[in-house]
Amino acid sequence: MKNEVSCAKITDEVMDKMRKTIVAGNWKMNKTNVETVAYLEKLKELAKGVEDVEIVIAAPYTALSDAVKTVEGSNIAIGAENMYPKDSGAYTGEISPVMLKSIGVKYVILGHSERRQYFKETDAFINEKVKSALEHNLIPILCIGETLEERENGKVKEVCERQLIDGLAGLTAEDAKKVVVAYEPVWAIGTGKTATPEMAEETHKLVREILADKFGKDVADEITIQYGGSMNAKNATELMAQPNIDGGLVGGASLEPETFIQIIKR
Ligand code: PEP
Repeated sequence: MKNEVSCAKITDEVMDKMRKTIVAGNWKMNKTNVETVAYLEKLKELAKGVEDVEIVIAAPYTALSDAVKTVEGSNIAIGAENMYPKDSGAYTGEISPVMLKSIGVKYVILGHSERRQYFKETDAFINEKVKSALEHNLIPILCIGETLEERENGKVKEVCERQLIDGLAGLTAEDAKKVVVAYEPVWAIGTGKTATPEMAEETHKLVREILADKFGKDVADEITIQYGGSMNAKNATELMAQPNIDGGLVGGASLEPETFIQIIKR
């Protein structure tokens, strides 16, 4: 039994090294273009020498082009917060993966709970976006997670399973490896309530099992699963120390570079 435990730990440690730790800031509808450039100039300085974490800033569309130029040659990558799953056409007000790729955007957040809630995005629509992003070599950060009501009704597994299976429908195992999953319990987003590290780890483990059932254990072990929901400089260390938590998707605490860097360097 003791051996089994230590073997499991070694396996987890090896797997930890195999998959990337990604800490991404989700700015939501915050920061002008000028504010973005000033922030990134500061973050570039603060993040010098950080090599064990992929740092991502997901900024509003209007700031993306200058954001990419500002971080050129640094260890910071830029992401979009959304996109429309068509290359071009009569979709007034939308932004395509071709446009994002053309300016050097690397990541795109898809299926954030705010988009599911306020813009009624369905799993099928999010799946179209995931496939479209992958076709254009953008790395999708697929957000999943239950509401408080769903948690209280014992539906965490059901909800996460549905959002993962439907959101990743039609993907090959090779494609699945390129996806980042962000587990974000909706009740913890922007509320100051964080899942305890144990609670978060339990669901992350479950998410990895669902991924293993669908794509195989080897694939699941390579997929980065971020935690999101009121992550801050105080709780980041313990959360990210969990074997199945591979970084964070950070909203409020990513808005100041001095705070965000503490999470990155946890
Ligand atoms: C988010 O928007 O993805 C998020 C996790 O926000 P916050 O960190 O503010 O809870």
